[in-house]
Amino acid sequence: MDIRFYNTLTHRVEPFTPIDAPNVYMYNCGPTVYDYAHIGNFRTFVFADVLRRFLELAGHKVHQVMNITDVGHMTDDQLADGGGEDKMAAAATRLKESKKDGRALVENPDDPYAVAEFFTTAFIDDAKRLNLKIADEYPGQMPRATDHVEPSMIPMIRSLIEKDHAYVADDGAVYFSVQSFPEYGKLSGNSLDHLKGGAGGRVQDSHQTHKRHPADFLLWKPDASHLMKWDSPWGEGYPGWHIECSAMARALLQRDTIDIHTGGEDNIFPHHECEIAQTCGATGHDRFANFWLHSRFLLVEGEKMSKSKGNFHTVRDVLEGKVTGRPVDPAVLRFELLKGHYRSNINFTAKGLADSASAVDRLRTAERAVSASSIHVSMRTIDNIDAEYSVINEFKAALSEDLNISGALGVLFSWLKSNPTNLIEMHDILTITNEVLAILPGSDAYVIIKDNTGTHVGSVDQDIKMKCKALDDARVAKDYDKSDAIRKEIESAGYEVKTTKKGTVASKRLA
Ligand SMILES: [Zn+2]
Repeated sequence: MDIRFYNTLTHRVEPFTPIDAPNVYMYNCGPTVYDYAHIGNFRTFVFADVLRRFLELAGHKVHQVMNITDVGHMTDDQLADGGGEDKMAAAATRLKESKKDGRALVENPDDPYAVAEFFTTAFIDDAKRLNLKIADEYPGQMPRATDHVEPSMIPMIRSLIEKDHAYVADDGAVYFSVQSFPEYGKLSGNSLDHLKGGAGGRVQDSHQTHKRHPADFLLWKPDASHLMKWDSPWGEGYPGWHIECSAMARALLQRDTIDIHTGGEDNIFPHHECEIAQTCGATGHDRFANFWLHSRFLLVEGEKMSKSKGNFHTVRDVLEGKVTGRPVDPAVLRFELLKGHYRSNINFTAKGLADSASAVDRLRTAERAVSASSIHVSMRTIDNIDAEYSVINEFKAALSEDLNISGALGVLFSWLKSNPTNLIEMHDILTITNEVLAILPGSDAYVIIKDNTGTHVGSVDQDIKMKCKALDDARVAKDYDKSDAIRKEIESAGYEVKTTKKGTVASKRLA
């Protein structure tokens, strides 16, 4: 299947070809954990999830890493070298104040690790409710930045200094030298001259006297009084924010050049620009990620979200009914966040949420008709299930054109509008499209239950499905003891286990 994506790096839609097909190596800038993630953050994370699921439906094996940023963020980190107060310290102060009011969220707000752990758990809970595959099935691939300071960030900073891409300034801090990297500014379209002039306030000058160029950015800040600190060749201190993604992507995806890097549009400058400079500076390759995909902002009722406007909604606020006056189903919020094209602003509104609720309802009604029927869905192999249906082909074709989700949903909902009655067709189309949308309670693509005549009766066993995926992961990791053990568990539940192109398939024959 030909897939094309808009690449921020080249400013055009380009054919997507993974370096090592069918593998796709993808890194997503993940959440900061000083507070609950808001729905604008989740717009970006849901986009990354839909992208991953679509690539899998297209036959790729996606290796996805999304980091948890639990160190290094400063209150002014929209600026090139992140000045201001440390966000974790600011969170501790905020939490201490809430404790005084008797609303203790974290028992010990003075412990930055406890604060980070509290909000990391909250994030993973929200992510699971919104059905993000990475949170559900691959918690180990949501690594904490604090675990990677010594093994990956410090060695990368050291190698940047060795290669003259970084220097220790007379204030003792380590900075990346943007002039050592002629490509700096290519992603965001900023030139060094423009940055010298302040880049519209986004290059700050408080460290100006110590830096060779105003756009040079922080890699290591020695500060023995900091809340979270590590030993380093440049003194006890902490890493800059940008270095964490460069170091973690390389360490965890084990590649100098990856296929896809995503984030929100606000990450383009300075964060992603700095990531490219660091990674390419350290590896000597001219590409860090072949494709850079960025989602646009989410607006609330047509306005930018801000704490002062009171329209700064977290996922739990929406789900618990604090925004619309009644609880919202997580599937409805997921649908609301995924239904707009990732390169358009989406406008979160009460009306939109109501429309999403009725769309989810239409899908569920159709699914209930299939699952309640006593008609047996004929056995078919997963490999050829989709080729037969124009609905599925058109759905995939729309997504393959820069993830045209509106086109894909248009295909699916106009088919539903035609009131399909063929239960086999309904089963197949809902199952396959749900692999990307993940609105219905899970497909049975990996578990097949047959009756005694060999006919597929279309049941879903989530537990076995999870085990099949765990088996696939163990096999990819070449942990054959583990994959054998999981295989035995599945078999002891009465299933026959087969390896197919799309992964493990478990099937069971009813007596
Ligand atoms: Zn990042």
